[in-house]
Amino acid sequence: MAHQDTVPVPDNTVERWTHPPFDGHIDSAGWIWGRGSGDCKNLLIGELSAINELLRIGFNPQRTVLLSFGFDEEGGRVRSAQHLSAHVESVYGKDGILFIIDEGEGIKEDYFGRTFVTPALGEKGSTNVELTVAVPGGHSSVPPAHTGIGILSRWSQRREPSNPFSAYAQCLAEYGEIDSALKKALSPRRLMTTQAVDIIHGGVKVNALPEQATAVVNHRISVDSSVKELQARYVKLLTPVAKRFNLTVVGMSSTKACLDFNTQVPETATRYLKLSTPYGSDASPVSPYSGSAWDIFSGTAKHLWGEEAIVAPLLMNGGTDTRAFQNLSRAIYRFQPIRSTDRYDIHTVDERIHIDGHLNTIRWIFALIQNADAFRE
Ligand SMILES: [Zn+2]
Repeated sequence: MAHQDTVPVPDNTVERWTHPPFDGHIDSAGWIWGRGSGDCKNLLIGELSAINELLRIGFNPQRTVLLSFGFDEEGGRVRSAQHLSAHVESVYGKDGILFIIDEGEGIKEDYFGRTFVTPALGEKGSTNVELTVAVPGGHSSVPPAHTGIGILSRWSQRREPSNPFSAYAQCLAEYGEIDSALKKALSPRRLMTTQAVDIIHGGVKVNALPEQATAVVNHRISVDSSVKELQARYVKLLTPVAKRFNLTVVGMSSTKACLDFNTQVPETATRYLKLSTPYGSDASPVSPYSGSAWDIFSGTAKHLWGEEAIVAPLLMNGGTDTRAFQNLSRAIYRFQPIRSTDRYDIHTVDERIHIDGHLNTIRWIFALIQNADAFRE
């Protein structure tokens, strides 16, 4: 897999590019400059080039090789991936594919003394939680103990532990040359459901108490948690806050916990705390890091990057088109054989990839298809 689309180049940034974003300029040091060079035209072209080369040498596969190229991965993933996936499923059935490769994590060379090949085996979910505090307004000259904004800011939140990155961390700790302090530090944020308060709306005038204050918090849901679990945590954390400030909680009931998160505010309510999740998706399933698909993947990786290379599973914070492909295979590896020093500035000015990274992509797909073809159940 790969996607054909790219993020746009905003007009007001064109001048800042070292080489024009759509010239496909290759400089004398081997850098390919342009929008999409790293995300992910290199993979798209690399896959096609590998197939071309296989055809050229007369390769005659026993297995079917499918190429699936979506066209709106950067634009919400609503028009292509799920249709491609539905078609493949109608032909090959559920779990009908040995494994799937798509864009993703790369190669870390000379990383704690070793080379790490790091396919992402899962993707976090993404969920927005909206909190609204409504209290009676009034004049700022006679403020209550806490304004709506004050109450909202009382809200705080714990983080939670989670998992497949821990396998990666364990690999680093076991094989990398890591001191004890760093080992301790390997209980990273990447593991957990994260939170970022991205939008806050509050008052409008300095002499009027805000009647309503709203915060929208984006969470990236870890693979061992869920939107439901997140909602339940909000309920648990916010119930005492609401009680303390004499607010009715809207968006849940004590009997149904958080299941009716999107309920309406009663017209008579003047003091309330409303919770809603305008958008929410759970994390993807986690692909196996043992078994035949994994053996083909990791064996090919060691063939190309040496027996010494460590193939270590990772978790992706972002999303890919494979989100729509979960029905087709349990083994989905999001990986591009690109060293961190071969690719820069994805999604921003001066996106570029080194030709070495591109050639590695061709070699990788070329070898992987042949190794998968040689595999018999
Ligand atoms: Zn991409």
